[in-house]
Amino acid sequence: MDKTPVHILLVEDSPTDADLLRRIFLGFSNEESSLTQVDRLTTAIAQCHENSYDVVLLDLGLPDCDGIETVTEFRANVPTVPVIVLTMMDDDELALQVMACGAQDYLIKDQITGQLLMRSIRYAIEREQISQQLRNSERSVISALAQQKELNLLKSSFISMSSHEFRTPMTIIRTSVELLQKFEHELTEQKKNDYFKRIKAAISQITHLLDEVLLLGSSEAGGLSYKPEPLNLEKFCSELLEDLQFSDDNHHSIAMDYQGDYANAVMDSALLWHILNNLVSNAIKYSPQGGTVRFSLTCQSGNAIFQVQDQGIGIPLKDQTHLFETFYRCSNVGKIQGTGLGLAIAKKCVDLHRGDIQVTSELGKGTVFAVVLPMNPTDSQ
Ligand code: ATP
Ligand code: MG
Repeated sequence: MDKTPVHILLVEDSPTDADLLRRIFLGFSNEESSLTQVDRLTTAIAQCHENSYDVVLLDLGLPDCDGIETVTEFRANVPTVPVIVLTMMDDDELALQVMACGAQDYLIKDQITGQLLMRSIRYAIEREQISQQLRNSERSVISALAQQKELNLLKSSFISMSSHEFRTPMTIIRTSVELLQKFEHELTEQKKNDYFKRIKAAISQITHLLDEVLLLGSSEAGGLSYKPEPLNLEKFCSELLEDLQFSDDNHHSIAMDYQGDYANAVMDSALLWHILNNLVSNAIKYSPQGGTVRFSLTCQSGNAIFQVQDQGIGIPLKDQTHLFETFYRCSNVGKIQGTGLGLAIAKKCVDLHRGDIQVTSELGKGTVFAVVLPMNPTDSQ
């Protein structure tokens, strides 16, 4: 017989029955096993919330609950501890009923022997472990299905938008190449350069779109992961802003402000790059040339607070609740190009950091995005 210690809670109001069961149990179990007895259902539920038991032996007739309801009530409050029901009656129908209510076994009091009791306890523990495993795998199947559903949604919206988003740059490339071929000798160097520039811009637009879709696809499939590492936030942000300023050809000025102790952050630099790169790119893209984009980083109480502020076109109130949806673009974008994926990616990256992103905006006046991220994952546990 298996001699691993087991800890039993006996819920029995008859002192004689309780005493008999205790003797049977202790006679057959290992020395480190224990049996605690209570005589009411409410006390049993409270005990199970405070202590850990392997099995509960539950009498059906208690002063505060009677019959099948005892099992239902107990399982509703303590769903994970296996229950063996004890009763005076040898009644098959009752046996089926208690099993249907979640009991693992059913023992008739005057038929209990040491061996029978121990075997029933072992089986109850095993069956509960199997049910637990089943519940866990059911949960992972449900979450995989939900992920698959989201991925399918992304795929279908990608197909419907890609015909348009790809067709425009593809047409630019095709017509520019055709003109370059047809008028190779008539075109001035300046004109040829213009066409090459257009082709390059169209290619970057397609590459950017593909990069974003792939990134989002991998994050939907659980591929984008959180890998924190020590990071000097000021250096990281300054380099990122410098790169963006350079690719903007200095059409906007970027004002930076750093406050607090930003040297000792432990964050995921790849995720942070996606967040800040898109917020600052948006601030530049959606504000007029010559405008100022303000970037601030404040480190306080274990959080890094990033704010990106622009004086651009603003975001209509009705669009604000949809900003983080994939492919969503606001009604006022006009001819400004974009795919509507940047903020969806930024939001995923913020969520992976267990952070928060908020927007405040006034139409025609400007927008502020604020992101709060814990600076060190071990502090927030
Ligand atoms: P991309 O995928 O290339 O980033 P995008 O900029 O259009 O394309 P998002 O970054 O997801 O997509 O932004 C979604 C929409 O939110 C934008 O299309 C735009 O309408 C609006 N938006 C975002 N940031 C700003 C901002 N700073 N000012 C005004 N509108 C903004
Ligand atoms: Mg964007």
